[in-house]
Amino acid sequence: MDILVINCGSSSLKYQIINADTEAVLASGMCDRIGISEGEFSYKPANGEKLSKKVDMKDHEVAIKIVLDTLIDPQIGVINSLDEIKAVGHRTVHGGEYFTKSTLINDEVITQMEECIDLAPLHNPANLSGIRACQHLMPNTPMVAVFDTAFHQTMPPKAFMYGIPSEYYEKYKIRRYGFHGTSHSYVSKRTAQFLNIPLENSRIITCHLGNGSSICAIENGKSIDTSMGLTPLEGLIMGTRSGDLDPAIVDYICQKENISTKEMMNILNKKSGVLGISGLSSDFRDLLTAEEAGNEKAKFARATFAYRVAKYIGSYTAALTTVDAISFCAGVGENAKFIRGMIISHLQFLGIKLDEKANLETVGKEGIVSTPDSKVKVCVIPTNEELMIARDTRDIVMNL
Ligand code: ADP
Repeated sequence: MDILVINCGSSSLKYQIINADTEAVLASGMCDRIGISEGEFSYKPANGEKLSKKVDMKDHEVAIKIVLDTLIDPQIGVINSLDEIKAVGHRTVHGGEYFTKSTLINDEVITQMEECIDLAPLHNPANLSGIRACQHLMPNTPMVAVFDTAFHQTMPPKAFMYGIPSEYYEKYKIRRYGFHGTSHSYVSKRTAQFLNIPLENSRIITCHLGNGSSICAIENGKSIDTSMGLTPLEGLIMGTRSGDLDPAIVDYICQKENISTKEMMNILNKKSGVLGISGLSSDFRDLLTAEEAGNEKAKFARATFAYRVAKYIGSYTAALTTVDAISFCAGVGENAKFIRGMIISHLQFLGIKLDEKANLETVGKEGIVSTPDSKVKVCVIPTNEELMIARDTRDIVMNL
């Protein structure tokens, strides 16, 4: 069963077509600068050359039309007709409290997603544009929404409520939701498989460390706590996001700099994190190069990032009471071996021992990076959100 997986951002769209039976990726690519001039389209069939071309795409529908036309192109396409796409899985950011799992899209689901726009004003409208465009171009194909927040809906109230008057939860649903759920779900399942431990009787901490970063405490396969909150700004220090801070700072800087809270939120989302600390870059590769050349601020940014991750792992050990495995994933978690080493060096109190050689050798692939006698297994598990979306979509449409 071929499934098209769509991940729409406000001006970009990533796609993969996956055979959900063999789990093979038939083709993948991206549309960039949608709604902006000089758009870029890329397409890579599994057994062929990557194609890139400049093409203006005024909206998501134009972009998706180009994707579909390419998939069925007689020369470079990977399917014969659009009928071979049995369903479309849409990555969707915010499902609020409505969605505890991936869901077949109908009018009611769209209305509920619209009601969540306030909670994710940048992401949900883009996700909805992608859904509407696909519905228009493939009116008879079932569509499934896979929510970043759904996996975390198992968090207990003590983990998701903030220490503010509860009327704000009652009136506005202000609470912690968490994100990267598809990734945390995939990586925890894969970790249990990889280590040959039963997921239903496991305690795993997954560290999704990319541009955006979050950590999740997973008990018996269920999220019981995660570091992002109402929005993806809370928790770890990220590429450009501040993560946790004293909320009084917002008002203080607004007063001192004579800026609005909107401008301040932009600083916290786009100009903070390791970019803000280093004054240099949000990319950990740049920071490592700078540190090696003697840049003290880059060194400090990396160390501060690692320290925050370690502190969260410590607190999630308390949440889980004991921990079987810690898994690293996403761009930094999968590749940045020195950062992993720095994080683990804080965790000796857990009886964790890093296998230095395995850690250096495990870059962008699955592996165990702790020693055989380490009290907790530490793994690298590359995430695969697209595959998880394809699996969920297949499971839902199979029963239609
Ligand atoms: P996103 O959150 O955008 O999906 P990714 O998970 O792809 O991000 O992570 C991107 C980040 O991963 C980059 O900004 C960079 O900091 C980091 N990264 C990627 N490759 C490496 C590498 N080889 N070494 C260190 N860091 C890396």
